[in-house]
Amino acid sequence: MDKLAINGGSALRNKKIYYGCQWVDTDDVKAVCEVLLSDYITCGPKVEEVERELESITEAKHAVVCSNGTAALHCACLAAGIQPGDEVITTPLTFVASANCVRYCGGTVVFADVNPETYNIDPDSIEQNITERTKAIIAVDFTGQAVDHKRIREICDKHNLTFIEDAAHAIGTLYDGKPVGSLADMTCFSFHPVKTITSGEGGAITTNNDELYHKLVLAHIHGIEHDEEFMEEVPHEGPWYYEQLSLGYNYRMTDFQAALLLSQMNKLEKFKARRKEIVTKYDDAFRNIPELFVQKEVPESDTCKHLYIMQLKLDKLNCTRREFFDSLSAEGIQCQIHYVPVYWFPYYRRLGYKRGLCPNAEEVYKGIMSLPLYPKMTDQDVSDVINAVKKIIEYYRK
Ligand SMILES: *Cc1c(COP(=O)(O)O)cnc(C)c1O
Repeated sequence: MDKLAINGGSALRNKKIYYGCQWVDTDDVKAVCEVLLSDYITCGPKVEEVERELESITEAKHAVVCSNGTAALHCACLAAGIQPGDEVITTPLTFVASANCVRYCGGTVVFADVNPETYNIDPDSIEQNITERTKAIIAVDFTGQAVDHKRIREICDKHNLTFIEDAAHAIGTLYDGKPVGSLADMTCFSFHPVKTITSGEGGAITTNNDELYHKLVLAHIHGIEHDEEFMEEVPHEGPWYYEQLSLGYNYRMTDFQAALLLSQMNKLEKFKARRKEIVTKYDDAFRNIPELFVQKEVPESDTCKHLYIMQLKLDKLNCTRREFFDSLSAEGIQCQIHYVPVYWFPYYRRLGYKRGLCPNAEEVYKGIMSLPLYPKMTDQDVSDVINAVKKIIEYYRK
């Protein structure tokens, strides 16, 4: 048996590999530079263009791009009319932004538990948490796999709730053949560099609903209206006149970010294909290792995976998750953990949430780690990761 690097053996690779990394080429750089040398550098024709392109990719009626995925979620909560006293149901196995956006509006976050095999929010748990104060559901396509749209739509229709999809992981994913972005009442995307396509910082919301679309536009530009059709004071003062109709924010995307995003959108299919290839290699390598659990795939979701999550069956190993994580790191594989259950953090703890609230999410959290997954990985990178995992499992196997 090979001596582990953490115990003084030689590392599988010298150059560390991280869990995620963007892929920006010279054509992306050129697209950005062209905008920087043009008349508009913020909120000009490229923003328009990228919104139309996102509508085309997602088959949604409307798209609004904004400064980041968190701003997108905040705008969606504003458009849904979330206020103090309202409850919004989401998953604890997510990035904090999925819950924080409710807090920005003064709403109460209610955490529903996850399915222990797919890791996505469990519709049964959603139903158990509905009260007369429930206003919306924020369902996260965790790792990129689509949530249970059929059940969640039924629940939303039955209880008159707004269905917000946090698709920060899921651009490029299809559910029953339809793109994520065309299905929920509002779908939020993130274009942070670790996500599938990037604009540096960036986000977007898509919707098929005209009324929500108008609210989303206002939310991300100070609540300011330029279209006379929607103004209250008509006839108005003159060509310079605009009207602030609601309290909005400055969440606009710049035109040079939009140019980067457009350029990246052209590569989405290529990125998706490579991500799928890597996921298949991992699945094939790990499926028959008894110490590992591989995330369950649902047949409805044609998934463009953002994260590859390996779950350790710790009862079959002579190590802790931390020891496994550190051993991988010593071999040159830098994983990350997605995510610490949101309500464990001090901010939420102080709001009164207690450990034990969502037992499945907490149990999943104990054994998971995210392996490197990004399209720029070489086949050698992928086999290094697989070999490192196998080497460590052999060493700690009971
Ligand atoms: C990345 C992410 C966000 C936030 O996106 P930013 O663009 O970083 O603000 C929200 N939800 C989930 C699930 C994410 O992974």
